[in-house]
Amino acid sequence: MTKTFVEPEPSALLLLLGQATDTLSERGVDCPGDLPAPSDPDLVQRARVAKQTLGERAFILGHHYQRDEVIEFADVTGDSFKLAQKAAAKPDSEFIVFCGVHFMAESADILTGDQQIVVLPDMAAGCSMADMAAADQVDSAWRCLQAAGVADLTVPVTYMTSTAAIKSFTGRNGGTICTSSNAKQSLEWAFKKGEKVLFLPDQHLGRNTAILDMGLTLDDCVVFDPHKPNGGLSTAQIRDASMILWRGHCSVHGRFTEESVDEIRAKVPNVNVLVHPECRHEVVQKADYVGSTEFIIKTLEAAEPGSAWAIGTELNLVRRLANQHPDKQVMFLDRTICYCSTMNRIDLPHLVWALESLAEDRVVNQISVDPDTAHWARVALDRMLALPGVGAIRGD
Ligand code: SF4
Repeated sequence: MTKTFVEPEPSALLLLLGQATDTLSERGVDCPGDLPAPSDPDLVQRARVAKQTLGERAFILGHHYQRDEVIEFADVTGDSFKLAQKAAAKPDSEFIVFCGVHFMAESADILTGDQQIVVLPDMAAGCSMADMAAADQVDSAWRCLQAAGVADLTVPVTYMTSTAAIKSFTGRNGGTICTSSNAKQSLEWAFKKGEKVLFLPDQHLGRNTAILDMGLTLDDCVVFDPHKPNGGLSTAQIRDASMILWRGHCSVHGRFTEESVDEIRAKVPNVNVLVHPECRHEVVQKADYVGSTEFIIKTLEAAEPGSAWAIGTELNLVRRLANQHPDKQVMFLDRTICYCSTMNRIDLPHLVWALESLAEDRVVNQISVDPDTAHWARVALDRMLALPGVGAIRGD
């Protein structure tokens, strides 16, 4: 596909470094302290035995950005939306073990049956982008739009990478969810319904889609900074903008720069640059192909043997793709290491601990979204599912 599309807070740093509680973020729960030692030589065998003991009772989901040691035990791999769909299609599985990050497990809880229990092996596996849009900040932003007299003309469009609370805000206020695959359809729907879009929480996906797919310009977009009064915008700026982009970004994809693209092109003359739309607009403009993780995987599968590819997405996925395609030259776009540190929280000791606990009928690290939040989040998700070509939750 061509370009038609296809800081952590100090408290978060503590979570990354060890065990702590961050009540202001979407995580907010202590990590367990009785994990198997990472040096335990029996970890793989223990995971196998626990998985076998659980059998059909447990369904293990592995996000594309997870470590290989975890992916080995996943019943299915995919992006966050595909995994939530897969979980919804397994109503007989008592336990959904989500090897991903917190907001993904929330989405799985929203989409699965009441009798199913969703477990996140490490509660510190959050997402810095999701944490950049807190519910009280978004409520306050909406009040700014009301004060500017434009809330009634504005449709919220929220990326799947968001907390359940923000999805719920979106449902309550007439908006829809989008993924990186269907952001264009979501914006088309929103602009038929209203005159403006409040795009949450990833400014880059919002900007890239607005400009590359919707024909808008940079001048049509403003960035609402929740840390500044009135978002750092004048009332006139809010009134004039078509796209009000939340000041959020992915700390992994935001690292790729124009220089990364220039360097790889200088080193590998025929290289194809393939990036995720969470990358900055300048990077996306310089790339040859832009698309979701599923698009990246399919593009590599269809690529000619001998072709060269520089990929701008999370390193675990790029390494796996390189191993799966030895007949192609698959490179990481940036010189520096670029793992998602929170995705990497889910390691084999945490997975073994979660599976063994469940096998002993001890539910640990359950992710549960309260019914009212889940209802309105589901309303927003259902609006997305009703968009042309997006498809139903079950039976994909
Ligand atoms: S890769 Fe980015 S968006 Fe995905 S979980 Fe990590 S920080 Fe969040």
